[in-house]
Amino acid sequence: MLIDCHLDSLLYYYNKRKNFFKENSKTAQVNWESLKKQKVVPFLAIYIEEAYKPDKAWQRFLEIYQFYKNDLNSEAPFYLGIEGGEVIEDSLLKIQALKEMGVTFLTLTWNYRNLIADGVLEKNPAGLTAFGRKVVKELNQQKILIDAAHLAEPGFWDLMEITEKPFIVSHANVKALCNHPRNLTDQQIKALAAKGGVIGISFVPGFVSSTNPTLKELIKHFGHIADIAGVDVLAVGSDFDGMEEKLRGLETSEQYFKLKEGLQEAGFSNEEIEKIFSKNIDRVLKEVLY
Ligand SMILES: [Zn+2]
Repeated sequence: MLIDCHLDSLLYYYNKRKNFFKENSKTAQVNWESLKKQKVVPFLAIYIEEAYKPDKAWQRFLEIYQFYKNDLNSEAPFYLGIEGGEVIEDSLLKIQALKEMGVTFLTLTWNYRNLIADGVLEKNPAGLTAFGRKVVKELNQQKILIDAAHLAEPGFWDLMEITEKPFIVSHANVKALCNHPRNLTDQQIKALAAKGGVIGISFVPGFVSSTNPTLKELIKHFGHIADIAGVDVLAVGSDFDGMEEKLRGLETSEQYFKLKEGLQEAGFSNEEIEKIFSKNIDRVLKEVLY
C-alpha cells in the first residue's frame, strides 16, 4: 500500500468537467482505476485557485465539493482536504463545518499571504497571524490534520511551537539538494521529525533538481533525509495533476512502482519502504484524526 499525501486530481478533472472517480482523462497524470489497482490511497486536495481568493474561496470549494458529493461520501479509500486556508475566510466556524463534511486536512496557505500566514513567495514573510494561531488551535481541536506545504519559514516555526499535534508538509523536498523556495531546510526537516510529523517527497521536477530532474535525483532526497533525520519522517506527496512539467521516468500514476525500485536500488530495506509508503503517515493520521 502507498498513501500519496498530495494529488491535485479533483480540481484537474473538475476543470475538464470530468468526474475523477468515474472517468479517465488522457492528459491527466492520475486515473482512479490505476490507484485502486495498485492500492494507492490518495490525499485528494481541493486546491483553491488564485482567481477565487479571497472572497470566493468558500463558494469555489462548495462548487467542487457538490460536484463530487456522492463520491466523497462513498466508502472509497482516500483522504479529502483543501489546499488554501483562504477557504475558511475569517470564520473559525467553517473549520467545524469542514470537519462535518469529511475534510481531513487543510494546507494553511498557498504561495502568498492570507489571513492565517504568509506563503513561501512573499518577500520578507511573517509568521502566523493572531487569527492564524486561533486557526491552528481550532484545527487541533476539530482533529483536522495541518499541512504546512507552501508555508513560509517563519510560519513553519510558529506552527512548530504552538500546535499540540504533529503536522505534515505534504509535498516538498530538500533545500540542501535543490535550492527552491518550496523546499525545506535540514533544520526544518529535523524539527519535523522530532515533532513526529512527515514530509511527503514530491515529484515536481523543479523541487528535485534545477539542472537534472530525474528519478535518480529524486531518490537522493529520500536518502538525504534518512541520513539527517531518520526514515520515520519520510512519506510520499507526488503532486500529480498539480505540476506543469513532469518528472522523467515518473510521469503518471501507473509508475509508482518505479519509486519502489529506485528506493530498493538505493539500499532502503522493504521495512523502510513500507514506512515511507504508508506507515509513517498512517502514524500521524492516527494521532491527529481520532
Ligand atoms: Zn501545492
